[in-house]
Amino acid sequence: MEASTSADSARIDLGVFPRVALCHQPTPIEAMLRLSDHLGGPNIFIKRDDCTGLATGGNKTRKLEFLVGEALKQNADMLVTQGAVQSNHVRQTAAAACRVGLRCHALLERRVPDVSQDYEETGNVLLDRLFGASIEFRGPGLDMNAEGLEATERLRAEGHKPYFIPGGGSNEIGALGYVSCAQEISMQSDAMNINFDWIVMATGSTGTQAGLVAGLHALGRDLPVMGISVRQPREAQIKAVHALTERTLAKINAGGIASSKIIVDDGYVGDGYGVPAASTLDAINQAARLEGLLLDPVYSGKGFAGLIGLVKANFFKPSDRILFLHTGGSAALFAYEEMLLSAQSAK
Ligand SMILES: *Cc1c(COP(=O)(O)O)cnc(C)c1O
Repeated sequence: MEASTSADSARIDLGVFPRVALCHQPTPIEAMLRLSDHLGGPNIFIKRDDCTGLATGGNKTRKLEFLVGEALKQNADMLVTQGAVQSNHVRQTAAAACRVGLRCHALLERRVPDVSQDYEETGNVLLDRLFGASIEFRGPGLDMNAEGLEATERLRAEGHKPYFIPGGGSNEIGALGYVSCAQEISMQSDAMNINFDWIVMATGSTGTQAGLVAGLHALGRDLPVMGISVRQPREAQIKAVHALTERTLAKINAGGIASSKIIVDDGYVGDGYGVPAASTLDAINQAARLEGLLLDPVYSGKGFAGLIGLVKANFFKPSDRILFLHTGGSAALFAYEEMLLSAQSAK
């Protein structure tokens, strides 16, 4: 028997769900001393979920532990999923499939306008191909989960045993990965004797924020999570995160949560999904030069821009301890080379 340093973590039992080990965990929490000093605001810490270990890491690996667990339970021989062309989720799914000996089929949506010439070949797409995933491209604006389900049925008719994972791995099974992360943060904060006042993170397909909020709520931790939207207006994102938070809480047999507990800032989206704003490029530069840290142009760069923006707007108290959740994504940097280089010469 372990001594119960955190009585809290006993309240959620994730052991009842099928799961495969894919993830380096716990991921470290580190102090961002130079950034905190530079901004002259609250103490900023970083949770290194860019270091989850699978194929350059990222947040999707935590979700995939439960999703691939379910796929194996259902005797699947193939994972089918979908994402934007430079999807980190597709890259981690393709790598996870290799780890457990399944095939992977991916639908990639041409969702981002005005991309560079090698956008469809480098970065995450190069890694998808290295992992042997078969790829179909789609034009923008389709219902990609419907497209993915259709492809799944086609593959089934051809004699495969496909298991479909929705975009971003964002359903109540994938979100369990971030319920687990909430337990991890709760234990680490007890061990470090630090009560964080805020978590700040990028939010897209919603599974990460929903799982984290569900986990913290079920643990009785009063730790607000600020989601920086990477794609859609605040109201729509809150609605989507809240819906998945409720489904995740039901899955772990915990009580519901008011939508007022879902916090989103949409001030850092810029021109839309996959299009870095000036603040995104600036955040990428600051993280690199102050902390030797790699962010990405689609998600964590916008999340970090939100963190910097909120500090500068005095949203936090100077005594606050802020935990930035680094969700990964640096493989996509190579697909944005021209933009990143011109942001350098502009300095
Ligand atoms: C997918 C992704 C996110 C967003 O997570 P969601 O669960 O989709 O909201 C954030 N950062 C990176 C790097 C991602 O790949």
